[in-house]
Amino acid sequence: MSVISSKAFAAALRDYGVSLREHKFDGVQWEDHDSPGGWNPHGIMNHHTVTGPDWSVDRTVRLLWKGRSDLPGPLCHVGLDRQGVAHLVGWRNANHAGKGDDDVLKAVIAESYDRLVPNENNTDGNPHFYGIEVFNDGVGEPYPEVQLEALFRINAAICDAHGWSAKSCIHHKEWQRGKIDMSWRGDLRKEIARVLGSGPDAVVLAATSEEIIDRYGDYGKEIVGEANRTRLALPLACALVEQESNFKNIFGCDLGARSTPPWCRQSVTRDRVQALIRHVRGGGTSNGVGLTQLTYLPFIERAELAGGAHDPRVQCRVGFAILHDHVRDHGKRKGLAVYNGGPSRPNFQYADQVLRREGVWKGRLGRVPPVETARGTVDTNGTPLTVRSGPGTSHKAVGQVADGQKVTIYCQAKGSKVTGTFGTSNLWDRIGSDRYIADVYVFTGSDGAVARPC
Ligand SMILES: [Zn+2]
Repeated sequence: MSVISSKAFAAALRDYGVSLREHKFDGVQWEDHDSPGGWNPHGIMNHHTVTGPDWSVDRTVRLLWKGRSDLPGPLCHVGLDRQGVAHLVGWRNANHAGKGDDDVLKAVIAESYDRLVPNENNTDGNPHFYGIEVFNDGVGEPYPEVQLEALFRINAAICDAHGWSAKSCIHHKEWQRGKIDMSWRGDLRKEIARVLGSGPDAVVLAATSEEIIDRYGDYGKEIVGEANRTRLALPLACALVEQESNFKNIFGCDLGARSTPPWCRQSVTRDRVQALIRHVRGGGTSNGVGLTQLTYLPFIERAELAGGAHDPRVQCRVGFAILHDHVRDHGKRKGLAVYNGGPSRPNFQYADQVLRREGVWKGRLGRVPPVETARGTVDTNGTPLTVRSGPGTSHKAVGQVADGQKVTIYCQAKGSKVTGTFGTSNLWDRIGSDRYIADVYVFTGSDGAVARPC
């Protein structure tokens, strides 16, 4: 798949919990707003706008829509403001990439881009890349976490919709000689891979998912638990199990039913797994085991080491982890094809079957809620408050926040008990990646939880 519809594009962003504003100027809708030139995207390019906080959201959006005298708009597809809201201003060809290095494009298409310094500006990037413009002055303004999280989600959503891996996502400076954007210095592809690995369902509440899966499959708890543990998207995990075993803990049946190893269509027991392993080691044909139909002997042995290949929980743990890594390395469609056929003979027919099932599971499991945060104000009577790497005083101090400072709370965790301005509590507020402060020093308007559990 190379081109998706504008509707599918917007839906993918929403699935990943991104808040959208769909813009329209002078009677033209963003979906009909483009530049001349073709459109066959292979990747995503991330930029900063070079507009400081003194620029209003409206003024910045107008710039991205209309462009400049020397460069007509749209200047991107998505403008991302400091609150993490995605502004859709163009579709198809947009003026954001300029000329860059064809070697970079080749690597992006091959899903092999890692680190390659562009050394020639010989190829027009606009037909080949989505453009995201992140509102930032580009000369040292910090990027709020809510904006960065939305950026990772937007990239992941587009990758997911196209079946790309995080290696399809680059900075402008990785495309064109002489560019410096984005000025953000974190590991972009690692963060996107993290979001892609967990999929849009990372924040679906497990209880709800369990209820739903209980109605459709016998091993709902095991599947939800192991999907969360391995960070495989839940609809994909359900689709995999449905495809492989229809939620039954049985041996495969490629050879027709039989009651001796390799046990086709028999239920999986510890003794039968061990007999199968002896059978395969002795030169016999292997067979798929259980919910995820582990077939390759080293995978069955890996499940044995992890607690027993007869155990549905362990079958999911090993199968999901393998699929998670393939999806991270190859994108979803090819990752599935490799899961079934191996890297030398990827089975795309299988991949498409699982993707169809995944679409159905997405509908059943519902949509992901948006990024929800709470606000608080540090109140320490003057002293700076220590920020720790985890929810407790035993975790490493990683910084300080001043008395009176406003903080965004992404989630709350139980940790060590602290006595502070607002009493005694074991509640800790996560205010950034691996950054926690004790809730008893934060005015939130409530003694109890104000954000989701971490
Ligand atoms: Zn740029």
